[in-house]
Amino acid sequence: MKIQNTNCCCCGNPMERGLADWHLQCCRCGYEAAEFAPTINRSQSHVLIDEEGRDTGLKNLRMANFAMLLARMAAHCRRGASLLDIGAAHGWFVKLATEGGWQALGLEPDHAIYSQAAASGANVREGFFPDALQPGETFEALVFNDVFEHIPDPGSVLDACKARMAGAGLLVLNLPSSRGALYRISKVLYRVGVHGFFERMWQKDLPSPHLHYFSAANLTLLCGKYGLACVEAGTLPSLHIKGLYARIAYVKSGLRWLAPLIWLAIILAYPVLRLAPSDIEVLLFKRPDGSPGG
Ligand SMILES: [Zn+2]
Repeated sequence: MKIQNTNCCCCGNPMERGLADWHLQCCRCGYEAAEFAPTINRSQSHVLIDEEGRDTGLKNLRMANFAMLLARMAAHCRRGASLLDIGAAHGWFVKLATEGGWQALGLEPDHAIYSQAAASGANVREGFFPDALQPGETFEALVFNDVFEHIPDPGSVLDACKARMAGAGLLVLNLPSSRGALYRISKVLYRVGVHGFFERMWQKDLPSPHLHYFSAANLTLLCGKYGLACVEAGTLPSLHIKGLYARIAYVKSGLRWLAPLIWLAIILAYPVLRLAPSDIEVLLFKRPDGSPGG
């Protein structure tokens, strides 16, 4: 069923109704979107998350992946390059980048999280991208770690990125993939009536749900519309056994009783899942019209 007045942001094809009444998909390029209304009571939906559990669960996976990501970025940037981490959260990436010799700055709009990051010694500034930047402030690398899929209007953000890249720059998008094995399993389960896993993949009912699921191909199409060319596409591991249980169990909803079963299923399937397409994609883009090093 075609949706009125909604065209795919990547290829322009009319979007069609997907699996759920809030889920849309493009049958030409595979882009997927969610029509989640903004959370009315932010503090109430925060109650759904076990913040401490989420911390432990995600930290092991993220730190290992951040180190791999910085190594890939280093192949495209000079040593000591300036870097802006947009949506820096607890400042883990900024601190790791600073230790690795980058001139790193993080932007974090949530006041409480910004304060924690600043207190931990990370070089962070409070505010949104690009409003929190000085006029003419540019960076050699702009990084979105698990942030781009939450942005309501990715086109205007890509425009702002292009304007804030020094020279040819480097734009790094680290985000969930619609080609990932876990995501595809969640869609199969949804079709047979098990909705919780698919809703969890979209972070439905959480304070900041996912609004997009891209693949390397349709994300390259989207960025191409804003004059950004893909220079490297790859994946990062989406599953680490250490901290997995805390990660699954961090939602304090009625579905929490399912956590041990989901954990067991993933552990049993781990040897196969390791070889299956990863649920995290990383794409690196440059401005072909920017003068290198300028
Ligand atoms: Zn499309």
